Parts: sequence; C-alpha cells; structure tokens
Amino acid sequence: MTLILDGHIHLMNPDPPAPAFLAELQAAGVSGGALISQPPASFARAAVQPPAARLQHALDWCALGPNLYPLFWIDPLEPDALDQVALAVGRGVAGFKVICDHFHPGHPAALVVFRAIAAAGRPILFHSGILWDGKPSSEYCRPAGFEALLAVPGLRFALAHIGWPWCDEMIAVYGKLLNALGHGQPGAAGVEMFIDITPGTPRIYRQRALADLFGVGYAVADHVIFGSDCHAPGYDSGWASEWLQRDEEILTSLGVGRDVQEKVRGENLRRFLGLTGAAVARAIPQPGV
Ligand SMILES: [Zn+2]
Repeated sequence: MTLILDGHIHLMNPDPPAPAFLAELQAAGVSGGALISQPPASFARAAVQPPAARLQHALDWCALGPNLYPLFWIDPLEPDALDQVALAVGRGVAGFKVICDHFHPGHPAALVVFRAIAAAGRPILFHSGILWDGKPSSEYCRPAGFEALLAVPGLRFALAHIGWPWCDEMIAVYGKLLNALGHGQPGAAGVEMFIDITPGTPRIYRQRALADLFGVGYAVADHVIFGSDCHAPGYDSGWASEWLQRDEEILTSLGVGRDVQEKVRGENLRRFLGLTGAAVARAIPQPGV
C-alpha cells in the first residue's frame, strides 16, 4: 500500500502553519502532497506579500510533515521572475505553479522563465481549462496553448483539472506531445507532460472524462496525478475523501488496475516532482490509433 498524496493544495492566505493540517489530511487517508504558495500580485485578491515571504510561508507549512512538497506560484511576466526562480530553487522548492491568467503559455518572456525552471530540474503545475477568477482569462488556459512548451527542453509540466471543459483537447495535446517524441524535434524528447485530475470536472463529467483519459490508448498510467484543490488551513477531508472514493469507483469500473490507481494517488506526484526514479518509457502513438 503506497502513500496517498494530494498533488494540488492551496495556501491562499498568510495563515501560520497549523499542525492540525496533518490530522485533516489523515482524516481523508492522505499522507501529504504538494502545497502551492500564496498567489502572485496578478492573481491575488487581497494584499500580496513579496515573493520571498510567500516562498518562506510555503516552506514553513511544508516543514510540518515529511511528505509535504512546496510549489512556488510565480508570475513569469514579473520583471524579477528569473530572480524569483533562482531564489526558490536555492531554498529547495519542489516545483512551480503557474496560472496563465494574463498571458499565453507561449509568451516569449514566459518561455524564458520556464526554460530557467526546466534547467533547474523543477516541474511546473499549470492551471488549464476554465478559470474562475472573475475576469476574461480562460482563453490563456486552453490546453492547445500549451503546445508552446515543446520549445522548453527538459520541462516536466502538468495541466490541471483535465483541462475541463476542454478535456478532449487536453487529451489530444497529451497525445501530440507523445507523438512529438518520434519527430526528432530538438528538445521534444525531454518535454514530459503530466495530467492533474484535480476537479475541475463537475461530478457529472467525471465518468466520461476519466473514461476518455484512460481509454484513449495513450500511455497515461505513469502520468496522471490525483489532487483535490483543497486549501490549507481548513483542508476539507470530506471533499478529498469523496473524490478519492468516486475516482476509485470509476477507475475500477473502467478496468484500471490497482497498481495504476495507486500510482495515480501517490507515486506519480513524486515522479512529477523528480523525487523518484528513472524515466518511464513512453509509447509513441500514431495518428488515428
Ligand atoms: Zn488550484
């Protein structure tokens, strides 16, 4: 039995680390996960702390337990974004979070920052799909826009929420990136896409989204990550449990093996973060297959 890890937990406010968080995770059977720092100024609703303070805050929360991994939320268009990358990497951050809410993923300035993150061996968790931020912004989060990341050699990245409502588009992009492995594109071999199945998907879409994702025929077993989108403090154990149980029922009904389900609930996050093991061989799909 492997650990269950939640790959998508938000720290939205400057609350001090709360030891009760660990008990709240355990109440859902969760042993840890990725904690996303408070947002940068472009996304924040309230007064925002400077990057160094947001970084420290996430590190402090992750010091609560052994299986907590800090992701630093960065706006790659901030003038000092490269300095923020260097600072966060130097302090031992596990990865980065980006929400493209006012720029396309292929914005030249953003790509420079993404290349620095990739060069540091860190992954990026991107929001994808409809963005509930009260502004017209979802066009920047459509899955097809992330094809631009083929120009970031060595990058490991995840698209969150199965791209809902553009799940088909997200699955197609995943296939495209696998197929790119066979095209000899410079750098493409090192670009590795993961799929964060954090809802996102409303309940009525869950069955069809997971059926499509696991039924399409692409090599997804080592690249799908469970997440809840819960906040800390106040991790919603009931919500996380409900989604874990629903997904287990759906995946079992789809014939997805226990071994793959356990990877989705734990090991794939650690592989995404570069904490475990060897690269996984990825079969190259051909058009129409
Ligand atoms: Zn989120």
